[in-house]
Amino acid sequence: MSGDVHRYHRQMLLPGWGEDTQRRLSESSALVVGVGALGSVSAELLVRAGVGRVVLADRDVVELTNLQRQLLYSEDDLGRAKAVAAADRLRRINSGVMLKPVVEDLRGERVLELTRGAGVIVDGTDNFETRYVLNDAAVACGVPMVYGGAVGTAGMVLPVVPGVGPCLRCVSGELPVATATCDTAGVLGPVTAMVGARQASIALQLLTGRDVRPLLESIDGLGGEGRLLDVTPLKDGDCECCVRRRFEFLERDDEGAVVLCGRDSVQVTPAGRRRLDTESVVASLRAHGSFDADQGVIRGRFAAERGERGEAIGLFVFGDGRAIVSGTSDPARARSVYARYVGA
Ligand SMILES: [Zn+2]
Repeated sequence: MSGDVHRYHRQMLLPGWGEDTQRRLSESSALVVGVGALGSVSAELLVRAGVGRVVLADRDVVELTNLQRQLLYSEDDLGRAKAVAAADRLRRINSGVMLKPVVEDLRGERVLELTRGAGVIVDGTDNFETRYVLNDAAVACGVPMVYGGAVGTAGMVLPVVPGVGPCLRCVSGELPVATATCDTAGVLGPVTAMVGARQASIALQLLTGRDVRPLLESIDGLGGEGRLLDVTPLKDGDCECCVRRRFEFLERDDEGAVVLCGRDSVQVTPAGRRRLDTESVVASLRAHGSFDADQGVIRGRFAAERGERGEAIGLFVFGDGRAIVSGTSDPARARSVYARYVGA
């Protein structure tokens, strides 16, 4: 680490942040789930600060509508797996950090495996289904998690520290209901940056062994009027997750097809995990349209398959067999396209 002291000089000048703290950070590990708007900012700040290892998990690909706020990506990244594009960019920022991209929809045992190796989970997801999976994993493994969310011009941040404060399910009444999302209500880029930066700040405190209080921060990206709520009294003495330790979200294995919010596309997850033979799948797809494979992700469009609105059906297939079928919002249609061209 000695050669890196100069790189981290400005943060090592901070009160209580000497060489020991910097070394502790260099030996720590963070799991960032979702490298969209929030995860772009938090992951970059953690990498620049010198966290030793950062795992970047994201199931999605970079789209044009992401570029308004997802700071790690440029036009060159359109269509690339986000986790891979993010890791490439972050490697150029700090080659001393070990970066591991994970292009998967995290579920069950896999979340536990990644959580066990982490000192903190940073929630960069955009849906409560996945957040509750992370919350289960955090409580089950005793690893703190930093929740973050942003919709419209408002954001929220909350550290969930197992054994110290309530978990996400205890405080669910204080969190926004899932009726408004970025896809339907829009989102202001500066708000997501504020939330991601606060998450990174809390993660750095946790990774360097500082005490973090269970405060729910509400961020107003327009007027600047924030609010802090001590959620300690909201701990639910009957909580299924953090009291009874029943981790039902970890036990769910989403099979089948899920319509991705507001995007005219459907995610298809095959029954059971498997590794795909990318080369042979892309070779057979080429008979039906223009397809290529980039770092294990197959992408392309069918020549003759059309969706409900007459657009060509597109397909992304990831190494674990999961696929995103675009140009349709009909789960049955998406499943049938998958079964026909990728295999049941
Ligand atoms: Zn709880």
